[in-house]
Amino acid sequence: MLKVGQIEQVRITDYTAEGEGVCRVEGCVVFVPGAIRGELCRIRITHVGRTNAHGEIREILEPSPHRCAAECPDAARCGGCKFWHMDYEAECALKAGRVRDALQRLGGVELNALSILGGDAVERRFSWDDSNEGCTESGSAAPLLHYRNKAQFPVQQKKDRVTAGFFRERTHDVIPIRSCLIQDAAADQAREIVLQWAKKYNVSAYDEKTHTGLLRHIYVRKGFASGQVMVCLVVNGPSLPREDALVERLRWGIRALQSVVLCDNRAVGNVVLSDRFRTLFGTPEIEDTLCGLRFRLSPRSFYQVNHDQAERLYEKAIRSAGLTGNETVIDLYCGTGTITLIMARQAGRVIGVEIIPQAIEDAKENARRNGIENAEFICADASQAAAQLAAAQIRPDILCVDPPRKGLTPEVIDAIAEMAPQRVVYVSCDPATLARDVKRLSAHGYTLTAAEAVDMFPKTAHVETVCCLYHQKKDFISVPYEPKNVE
Ligand code: SAH
Repeated sequence: MLKVGQIEQVRITDYTAEGEGVCRVEGCVVFVPGAIRGELCRIRITHVGRTNAHGEIREILEPSPHRCAAECPDAARCGGCKFWHMDYEAECALKAGRVRDALQRLGGVELNALSILGGDAVERRFSWDDSNEGCTESGSAAPLLHYRNKAQFPVQQKKDRVTAGFFRERTHDVIPIRSCLIQDAAADQAREIVLQWAKKYNVSAYDEKTHTGLLRHIYVRKGFASGQVMVCLVVNGPSLPREDALVERLRWGIRALQSVVLCDNRAVGNVVLSDRFRTLFGTPEIEDTLCGLRFRLSPRSFYQVNHDQAERLYEKAIRSAGLTGNETVIDLYCGTGTITLIMARQAGRVIGVEIIPQAIEDAKENARRNGIENAEFICADASQAAAQLAAAQIRPDILCVDPPRKGLTPEVIDAIAEMAPQRVVYVSCDPATLARDVKRLSAHGYTLTAAEAVDMFPKTAHVETVCCLYHQKKDFISVPYEPKNVE
């Protein structure tokens, strides 16, 4: 039986879904953060649970050739990034492996190798032993740093000052940061300006334990193509003291400032935004260009955080849809209509479904802004809308889904089976739920014909996947179906 404090020499053989190293000691699985596959380490057991244990590296006896020194000064304290200790080649291998394992173990799909499109625009193909079967440079090298177009900094009182940064992993303790290497510089600028203003005018930080204090979050969004910046202050109340001075400082400090909004969120809990917004400066939203279309972005609307990789992801999704110009497409979980409108240019009719009313308003406006007339948008829960569309005899040729991490509900799967599109394009941010849904769809006659990972979030443990599933039988239905036993 393992004990806390025990020192062991171990070989790292695998990774968890979060990218922690995995080894075995006395038959027990031990997770070792910061360890790379293949490394020989001396570890100290820090926690022993019923089915597994945790350990910390004491010494690396045989370091991996992929090990590198952290560039980020806050890497050890901040829980946001996971992979400052390895090079990008190893990070891509790990992410491709995670998608491939999930599809094989949970999805029942045989895959010899899987490609991942890196944030550097290089396509790498990894086989089971993590060997790289080859690279294809598919465009100009994109930066692996400063790629995020959205930041949400929680605000907290620390001793005598108001600070903002990121939560330490698995805590609500804010680590003040100097500069985040994956964020755009506008995020750091806005945060520092707001903190200086808060100090000058004695604006209090929100305290979640007592539900007192004003400033909860500093939320910054930037359109990478347009350059436009939005700063949103989330406040436990309807207004802030000296809003005029705040706007003046932000305008002075951020050249491309387009919008300053206040979000009045007096609710107890972790949800960052409410639906009460007031514009303090400029417009209530910003605009960005993606795949040649213009998109209006409200603070509440979802928008992919990595602009260049989003374009590449959508191009892959659209290519796997195989559009010829006449198809009917349903896009469930459509956000501001990004995928829907990009597909609309190559399809007959597209229908987008999304639950957030503001995002649907954006989607409709985005269709207008781009002169797209063959797109319809429905504000509803995807399960309900899918069931209703199926009941209304809508029979799309292609159905696209891009759900949140929890994946598709059984109702959505049933509705897909009823609508029987020839292709399902599945864009996923969680390999495990994707694999589960691939298995469920395969029970309805769908076969996975393509799967590819896209690294939207270098340095962090997240990975995006785009899959295409094909209904084989549909090809054989060449004559209209004639129901028997009709009276
Ligand atoms: N395809 C879009 C958005 C993907 S994110 C894009 O790439 O920009 C997932 C979206 O699903 C979010 O906009 C979220 O608001 C929406 N969503 C979450 N739960 C939903 C549900 N039950 N029904 C419909 N949409 C939902």
